[in-house]
Amino acid sequence: MSKPFFTSTRSNQAPIPFSEAVVKGIAPDGGLYVPTFIPSFSVEDSELMHLSYQALAKKILGLYLTDFSDEEIAAAVDAAYDTKFSDSRIAPVTSIDRTHFIELYHGRTLAFKDMALSILPYLLKTAMNKQAIEEELVILTATSGDTGKAALEGFANVAGVSIIVFYPTDGVSDIQKRQMTTQTGANTAVFGINGNFDDAQNGVKALFLDEALIASLKQEGFLFSSANSINIGRLLPQIVYYYSAYLDLVRRQLIQLGDAVNVVVPTGNFGNLLAATYAKQMGLPVKTFICASNSNHVLTDFMKTGTYDLKRPFVMTASPSMDILISSNLERFLYTISGGNSEKTNALMRNLKINQTYTIDPEMKSALECFYSGYANDPETLDTIKQLYDKHGYVVDTHTAVAYKVHADYVSKTGDQTHTLIASTASPFKFTRSVMTALGTCDTDASDFDLIHRLSHHTGLAIPEVIKNLSEKPIVHTRTIDKDDLKVEVTATLKKRRRSIL
Ligand SMILES: *Cc1c(COP(=O)(O)O)cnc(C)c1O
Repeated sequence: MSKPFFTSTRSNQAPIPFSEAVVKGIAPDGGLYVPTFIPSFSVEDSELMHLSYQALAKKILGLYLTDFSDEEIAAAVDAAYDTKFSDSRIAPVTSIDRTHFIELYHGRTLAFKDMALSILPYLLKTAMNKQAIEEELVILTATSGDTGKAALEGFANVAGVSIIVFYPTDGVSDIQKRQMTTQTGANTAVFGINGNFDDAQNGVKALFLDEALIASLKQEGFLFSSANSINIGRLLPQIVYYYSAYLDLVRRQLIQLGDAVNVVVPTGNFGNLLAATYAKQMGLPVKTFICASNSNHVLTDFMKTGTYDLKRPFVMTASPSMDILISSNLERFLYTISGGNSEKTNALMRNLKINQTYTIDPEMKSALECFYSGYANDPETLDTIKQLYDKHGYVVDTHTAVAYKVHADYVSKTGDQTHTLIASTASPFKFTRSVMTALGTCDTDASDFDLIHRLSHHTGLAIPEVIKNLSEKPIVHTRTIDKDDLKVEVTATLKKRRRSIL
């Protein structure tokens, strides 16, 4: 069967194979790479039910990775989804009535970013060989808290690669911050920035398009790439768990093969939800997508009105990984619902840049019919954590609580009793202060690290191995920089790196 190539959302340049798209990260015209077609993958094959997560991942990635052999894909999958996940099922499903939490946080950094960032380094290394890349690949990463650590874990000490991470210095939880600032590995650099996630993401995107900088770094032997969800190599591995969770429900006889489910995703940069829409296009039976936001509900408003409007205040919430106003991956979705029209997509993106807003036409808007969207504020989020714990003894983090609450609103509005998959995106141990506050047992004097132990004591949940000794690890990355200084700092970091490689 033929596999797709990859093309930019913003122009009709000749399609390139996966290996080139994953190395480049972002297209030279500023667009994002998308597959030239979405392959089919029907669930109506009873063989599938008995596959392990790894076997399923091999099948699904095998449909997409243009120039990778089955052996190369198998090697990447087996290296990624191994014992660094604390649950051998990789993405286990916990069910409460008709809602089914896909627990995507059993990887090394306790958030769903591990699902893709555990495999991305292997995909990139293979792709670099195929593309005969001689430069060192520099992974520039903007993070709202979770991508940064997951990327650092994935790329630390990987030969031929270095990684530089920028996070909003006051916009992440203490545990997220400590996870990043204690990262070891000579090829890692981490900077707090005085600004929010959008500032970090815009700054990084600008570097990708800075031709003078790119040319001078190439002479020094460096080439930029991305570990953000703008990289197509982040997106494709996320399709797998929607299939695996669906098949899990069939295996447990909660649904019949072919039955449609609803899918709820707590959404920030729109990568996770986009992967779910790709799964549906491939053949996964999904009835309604529920897009859940926090008080930064620019996406909710877009889904309802067809207008994306950035002119609004940025709010810091208890679900910081979703504190985003510019959802990068929405561009890929616009491309899809415009019928693959790069001119239209480009015009919308230009409008956003110039006017801070755009409105899609009625034809595109009609594609939003299978979407419901809503948002939860912080008090609602914390209240949801408490109710889930009191009624069901199940502890969720703040992001997952946003999703659960928006889904509950959807059910009370529509009466829809369809079985529903909820993407559970982080461990409650990553957001201990909010979770303990929600449970009504937070000692405000205790540090976030003390609260790890108290949460465990209170709920009986075991502390995840990977954060047990976090507070004792030495802090090695201490710098906070101005949001306009990314270029200066990247240049200085790579100069130092150059000397250490030589
Ligand atoms: C990144 C993140 C999200 C948002 O995911 P997107 O793919 O950016 O929409 C939600 N929850 C958590 C915990 C995250 O780390």
